[in-house]
Amino acid sequence: MSGATRDFDRAVVLGGAGFIGSHLCDALLDAGTAVVCVDNFCTGRWENIAHLTEAAGFELVDHDVTDPLPDLGPLDVVFHLASPASPAAYYRLPIQTLRAGSLGTEHGLQLAERYGARFVLASTSEVYGDPAVHPQTEDYVGHVNPIGPRSVYDEGKRFAEAMAFAYARKRGTSVGVARIFNTYGPRMQPDDGRMIPAFITQALADQPCTVTGSGRQTRSICFVSDTVAGLLSVARSSESGPINLGNPVELTVTQVAGLVAEIIGSEAGISHIPAVVDDPQRRCPDISRAVQRLDWRPLVQFEEGLKQTITWFADQTDSRG
Ligand code: NAD
Repeated sequence: MSGATRDFDRAVVLGGAGFIGSHLCDALLDAGTAVVCVDNFCTGRWENIAHLTEAAGFELVDHDVTDPLPDLGPLDVVFHLASPASPAAYYRLPIQTLRAGSLGTEHGLQLAERYGARFVLASTSEVYGDPAVHPQTEDYVGHVNPIGPRSVYDEGKRFAEAMAFAYARKRGTSVGVARIFNTYGPRMQPDDGRMIPAFITQALADQPCTVTGSGRQTRSICFVSDTVAGLLSVARSSESGPINLGNPVELTVTQVAGLVAEIIGSEAGISHIPAVVDDPQRRCPDISRAVQRLDWRPLVQFEEGLKQTITWFADQTDSRG
């Protein structure tokens, strides 16, 4: 069922100091919602939320969500984004990643249940693994290697989805599961191993963009303001999902590298490095469900989002001297 829209007096953002979480905190505060940001800074950064610390209605709780959450007081919605998200981060923190998906999800659900709040899970397109169908609809159950190096993330999120649906079925918790596809924008970390920050950092240093494998593998990339708008739409609806949030425009990794180099004006070109284990060859969301049930679709053109992201990275490079 869709349609119901809600506005929130008070929201909790687990993982609010991260890349997407900090933009979500910004958007909620802009809409007049008080925000409790819970984060242990294992992959997030203080700088992402430094501008909010004096803002009216913003509260920061330094806490690991794999430990039971303190009573945070009455609230309307819990967003669970607390998880290492980039391959570099979850290779470094494999056990913490599984715990964030499992224990962290249950703690978030318990908090939501206590106040009759809605629970929104930031799940991922990685639940589809290396998909055998294109584009991926929410009905596709995935092609995941349960013991590969990426499994800590993929299976952690699959467990998180199962936990959210178990709470919905058994305890009547209002849950919304969003399957986010690759998101990019300002506040990504330059060294997190994902292609956009990697290519931008390389091109700004006039070094070749390193493309893994053939470079013909595709990605669909969504600008962060669109992803945040999607998460808010899921929260305001009564949809349990899962709902894909992503940009269905499919680009090859080589195309992305070329465009980054072109906008920056780097002459260093592209170099190829070996493919990584279990790297999906195609990734493209079918977003019909989000369009039909939430009236959500991405609005920011790739080139426009890329320019904003490049500007932010260039400013960071300048301010570091
Ligand atoms: P991020 O690493 O920048 O943000 C995650 C935040 O969670 C960080 O601030 C980190 O410190 C915090 N965190 C991690 N484990 C924690 C714990 N145990 N306790 C408290 N805080 C903890 O990553 P992101 O790219 O902003 O991703 C946010 C969420 O969206 C993640 O759940 C991720 O799986 C999901 N997602 C992101 C993308 C993407 O393209 N960025 C795609 C799909 C799904």
